[in-house]
Amino acid sequence: MLRWSDIVKFAKYSNPEPPRRMEQSEEAWAAQLTPAQFHIMRQKGTESPYRNAYCRSYEPGIYACVGCGSKLFDSTTKYHAISGWPSFTQPLTKSAIRYAFDDSHHMQRIEAQCNVCGSHLGHVFPDGPEPSGLRYCMNSESLVRLSLEEI
Ligand SMILES: [Zn+2]
Repeated sequence: MLRWSDIVKFAKYSNPEPPRRMEQSEEAWAAQLTPAQFHIMRQKGTESPYRNAYCRSYEPGIYACVGCGSKLFDSTTKYHAISGWPSFTQPLTKSAIRYAFDDSHHMQRIEAQCNVCGSHLGHVFPDGPEPSGLRYCMNSESLVRLSLEEI
């Protein structure tokens, strides 16, 4: 189980090796993604709280990256965080996500990116529920939930 000290170490020193890598030009991303997805995933935008697809959704399944299909979160780690965005306590695997310090907007945060395609997903905070104490605060636009039949 990842804890906050692991996340800080990843951001500070080196991230877990991704299972594969996907790279393409920003033009190709713009053609593949919707404008809202492109703004969030490639320009590090943030969608509106509460008014997003997965904030209050707790159907079983696996959440994958909209950009590359990499599986990121299991619905069993999703919890109600009152933040207005879908929140998880752990990634599906240690290598699913990479981390980077983000000092934008006069805040010190740790950004979560898809480890396969580098797209922005959201941020990680140390105020989640025990035992991990982590809150992966994600944008719904970056995720697609695969139902149990689709996995
Ligand atoms: Zn991805």
